[in-house]
Amino acid sequence: MGLAPPSLVEGPDVIPTIALNDNTQIPQLGFGTYLVDPAEAAKVVSDALEAGYRHIDTAQMYRNEAGVGDAIARSGISRDELYVTTKLSNENHERDAVRRSLDQSLADLQVDYVDLFLMHWPLPTLYDGDFPATWAAMAELRGDGRVRSIGVSNFQPAHLDRIITETGIVPVVNQIEAHPYFANDVARVASCRHGIAVEAWGPLGQGTVLDDAVIAGIADDLGRSSAQIILRWHIERGDIIFPKSTRPERMRQNLDLFDFALTVEQTAAIDALDRGDEGRVGSHPDTFAWLPA
Ligand code: NDP
Repeated sequence: MGLAPPSLVEGPDVIPTIALNDNTQIPQLGFGTYLVDPAEAAKVVSDALEAGYRHIDTAQMYRNEAGVGDAIARSGISRDELYVTTKLSNENHERDAVRRSLDQSLADLQVDYVDLFLMHWPLPTLYDGDFPATWAAMAELRGDGRVRSIGVSNFQPAHLDRIITETGIVPVVNQIEAHPYFANDVARVASCRHGIAVEAWGPLGQGTVLDDAVIAGIADDLGRSSAQIILRWHIERGDIIFPKSTRPERMRQNLDLFDFALTVEQTAAIDALDRGDEGRVGSHPDTFAWLPA
């Protein structure tokens, strides 16, 4: 008698962890905070923690780190049970600004360290194109215990190759846009080739994929919501995700992904929705050059 194949169903309420290349672990599912109003962030993130999220993704450019920090402080959850990511603002790529920027984030978040600090965008057309220098400055921050891991976001394959060649330091993650309309396999495969875990931002295509007829059909067949079908597809691909919702019932729904699985045919049908670059909802990393006012 042969061995049973490994099951994709982990059981409810169990969030898998992904091992990163610096021997740390990250919960595969977390909570995103892009476009969470700074004035409402404390309430929204408190609701997310109450729902069971323990991994929070924020950024200096979201202007809501203080609200995230208030929610963490009020929660009573011990710091080592939480995984907190923030990101370097586009205006802070110069070496000294990188350190000041982290200081400000830690103060706003009211924490002694962040688990993960990301370069938010490579900005290859700004700062003389020297994002490897910014990356080297971020790497210096790991030594003093205030940053557990460092990674990048919105890095194309050539950007990854450059920082690794010029600094020898491999990011733990690359946080890139990815969802059924834009699978982004180009950046995904390049990340995997370097041993870099993929974080898929905009996992629901920022809402654009939710009305898709193929997804709705699978949702009907499985008795799940379209959001759950899309998020389960991401989980089964092995990517790290942190969907955002301001509504507690959706927060709970987006956590409830671990007692069902997609069939091979359902996965193939979702894979076939990929529109390539036309499916992007965000900016292209080669040309994005926005600086906060
Ligand atoms: P998402 O793909 O998570 O989509 C969020 C949208 O989907 C919101 O409009 C939300 O509405 C809606 N939604 C969420 N859950 C449900 C549900 N169960 N049913 C119906 N609608 C739902 O987009 P994000 O851009 O927020 O991406 C996730 C996270 O990725 C961000 O919050 C941020 O942390 C990160 N990110 C990183 C970027 C980068 O450059 N590194 C860029 C963009 C995002 P509602 O709130 O009303 O429920």
